[in-house]
Amino acid sequence: MYDVIIVGGGPAGATAALYTARANLKTLVLDKSLTSGALGVTAKIANYPGFPEVLTGAQLLKIMQDQAASFGAEFKTEQVFTVDLSGEVKKVYAAQGEYQAKAVILCTGAMGRKNRVPGEEPLWGKGISNCGTCDGAFFKDQEIAVVGDNEEALEETLFLTRYVSKVHLALPSKKVKASPETIQQVQSHPKVRWLMEWRLKQVEGKEHLESVTFLGPHGEETLQLPGLFIYLQGGQPITEFLKESGVAMDANNFIKVNHEMATNVQGVFACGDVIGHEVKQAVVAAGEGCIAALAVDKFINKRSRVIQDYK
Ligand SMILES: Cc1cc2nc3c(=O)[nH]c(=O)nc-3n(C[C@H](O)[C@H](O)[C@H](O)COP(=O)(O)OP(=O)(O)OC[C@H]3O[C@@H](n4cnc5c(N)ncnc54)[C@H](O)[C@@H]3O)c2cc1C
Repeated sequence: MYDVIIVGGGPAGATAALYTARANLKTLVLDKSLTSGALGVTAKIANYPGFPEVLTGAQLLKIMQDQAASFGAEFKTEQVFTVDLSGEVKKVYAAQGEYQAKAVILCTGAMGRKNRVPGEEPLWGKGISNCGTCDGAFFKDQEIAVVGDNEEALEETLFLTRYVSKVHLALPSKKVKASPETIQQVQSHPKVRWLMEWRLKQVEGKEHLESVTFLGPHGEETLQLPGLFIYLQGGQPITEFLKESGVAMDANNFIKVNHEMATNVQGVFACGDVIGHEVKQAVVAAGEGCIAALAVDKFINKRSRVIQDYK
């Protein structure tokens, strides 16, 4: 049982963790990947106060997470799929199990996808996935496809090669946003078919995924495949896992909060890009993480006001 579970370890979540850990709250951060959030994918950061040298977003994020961990926050690489926030004990369900806490801070950012391709929606969970750890084993010794050109897509491709006989890796753009080492590892893997400038066009299947159509530089190709893993990014808030949670959202699915970053559900807070503010900057997300953490401390310790951490 944790005091607080923080879903998403970007600048908002990592800063919240720093403050809750320093407030002696037992803190767990669940984050699906260091390089899948907005800061994690950013190649250069030159405007984060206190860091005059140019860093990659992932380097800056690692420093933030390490600082929070040094005060006792626990970080786990886990994708959260659903939550039950109705009772006093908040339940968070992830690929490797269930976690419980007295409070939850939602900081999953806004790197979700905008447009789905024809046929995709009903086939999620029926052959289409975005979690190799959860679903890779279902495709043992079969051919599958992965779509995406970021570090997460490439890392998941390598992970999936443990199970499947072949991965058709479709990279929509020419610019692969991953480290040279990962690119080299994936390109030279005997089970990977590297398909540059291939875009997902359509998927088909009745009960389960049956075929995937791509548009490549030389035209269309349809592959008969039981599995497709999608790692495309856009600008949508990542709130799908909150569908049944009762957390209030606006018309664009951004989470609604008050001045303390509290949602309409008691004990549930949100901050960072997932609340849809106008200024999307790492320093803003970090500042909101601080506010959310102090509000969690107030909530758990039943204080009448927020106590600031000057220790
Ligand atoms: C290309 C680009 C360049 C940018 N450049 C700058 C810049 O120069 N300076 C600047 O200040 N800001 C910049 N920004 C904006 C800044 O990166 C964001 O405002 C900031 O990262 C938002 O922080 P966040 O913690 O809310 O979300 P994110 O940084 O997106 O972090 C969200 C985290 O949640 C995790 N997550 C998502 N879903 C789940 C799930 N279901 N389960 C578990 N974990 C999950 C992700 O892995 C991720 O780590 C840039 C953004 C982009 C996209």
